[in-house]
Amino acid sequence: MDTLHLGANSLESYWMPFTANRDFKRNPELVTGASGMYYTTRDGKPLLDGIAGLWCVNAGHGHPKIVEAIQKQAAQLDFASSFGFGHPLAFEYANRLISVAPEGLDHVFFTNSGSEATDTALKLALAYHHARGQGQRQRIIGRQRGYHGVGFGGLSAAGMGPHKRQFGMLLPGAAHMPHTHDPSRNAFSLGQPAHGAEIADTLEQMLQTYDPLTVAAVIVEPVAGSTGVLVPPIGYLERLRDICTRHGILLIFDEVVTGFGRLGHAFAAHRFNVTPDLIAIAKGMTNGAVPMGGVITSGEIYHTLMDSAAHGAVELSHGYTYSGHPLASAAALAALNVYIEEGVFEHAAAIEPLWQNRVHEMKGLPDVVDIRNLGLLAGIELGTDVANGKAIAKKVYDYCFERGVLIRPVANTIVLSPPLIISEEEIDVLFSTLAAALEAAG
Ligand code: PLP
Repeated sequence: MDTLHLGANSLESYWMPFTANRDFKRNPELVTGASGMYYTTRDGKPLLDGIAGLWCVNAGHGHPKIVEAIQKQAAQLDFASSFGFGHPLAFEYANRLISVAPEGLDHVFFTNSGSEATDTALKLALAYHHARGQGQRQRIIGRQRGYHGVGFGGLSAAGMGPHKRQFGMLLPGAAHMPHTHDPSRNAFSLGQPAHGAEIADTLEQMLQTYDPLTVAAVIVEPVAGSTGVLVPPIGYLERLRDICTRHGILLIFDEVVTGFGRLGHAFAAHRFNVTPDLIAIAKGMTNGAVPMGGVITSGEIYHTLMDSAAHGAVELSHGYTYSGHPLASAAALAALNVYIEEGVFEHAAAIEPLWQNRVHEMKGLPDVVDIRNLGLLAGIELGTDVANGKAIAKKVYDYCFERGVLIRPVANTIVLSPPLIISEEEIDVLFSTLAAALEAAG
């Protein structure tokens, strides 16, 4: 065993998620505090957070109003079950959330993570069709390179092969549309790519193979995040919406990343002006401060399930011990108030043009083969192939980390998704450091 042994501080026992545990424990990077745009490292240095924790700390770290709300709630009511019982804050937050949701999406089911949110969205779709006497609609259609968390449903719908290798067959009823990444036509697009709306028509072709009446739902991230930021071509999401509507198939947007201002609006649905039937949310919901997720659904789905059950019966056999947890509800309510009162989404929208200019200045630097951006998201793809790009991305990450800037390498792509409060000066530091790192790695 060559990991650190520090008694109570030993790194051995904690099996870290999605981590090369042995590598990490040989050379651990730990942070001990955070405020605003910065982490504090173990040796007391500031680290500019270029990825908002993990796409979640949209209002910056340790926002005093969110901290206070959590502290107060912990002292007042630590836990109350939501199974046939309740507490007022979960209801208050649900109402507040719906007030910023796209029109027609007016009910919310609470979960504790994005993975639970996508699994719940898929189960709601199945239950809805079942309630309407269309229980044969069991197929779920996702997309290549999609990421929907790690539950059996979300993982089945997702399209990142290596994530499935260790886990067998998963859901037999899952199928996948092609992804939208087409660098031969769209490399270095500013914002939404011009080409590729027709890729949505492959859904129509798939429906010829499977029969539309066997399909329950189509699930996509409006902008695919974890695969390296793939922005939908202009018109693509509109076409998906149209095909789903024509065939009575529910459209699920997984907005775990894009929700809560990442694209300069409350939801990507607003930005693209495309309204799905269900939206999976998490991350920015509580500004990352307490785990929470949820699914926002149409009234049609909610009322169909309500009306299909006998009086007094449980209408949906689903839920989590911590659904609508008091601390999570308090954090979420405070976060949403901060987002609205402090104009966090508006700031993201206002600074997006500068963000776009600065990220595209990386074009022409060594090994940069594509740049993608929308809202305060960016993906910088590196290298002549994935293996080579991955090695360069790791070097770039190390260079930036040593100079106090945190970015995220995802395979051969550098992903950026800062807190939405980022200033012009911080954008400058981020991209100056990144440019130097690319020069040094090349
Ligand atoms: N869906 C998307 C689009 C995500 O990016 C993620 C996490 O990154 C998830 C779902 C899963 O969320 P969680 O890790 O909270 O389970």
